Amino acid sequence: MEMKCHVCGRSVEVPTWTEEYERLKSENDPAYICNVCQDKIRMDAQNDQR
Ligand SMILES: [Zn+2]
Repeated sequence: MEMKCHVCGRSVEVPTWTEEYERLKSENDPAYICNVCQDKIRMDAQNDQR
């Protein structure tokens, strides 16, 4: 299933066997965020804690 990243707008293929796919499938309006942006958000959050 192809999902569009909510943050950078890049289209990313999400394999159907992944937990991510199961999560997206179960949500009515899934806000998909690609791995690159997830890492970026996580790093930003860590920086905020300092
Ligand atoms: Zn992204």
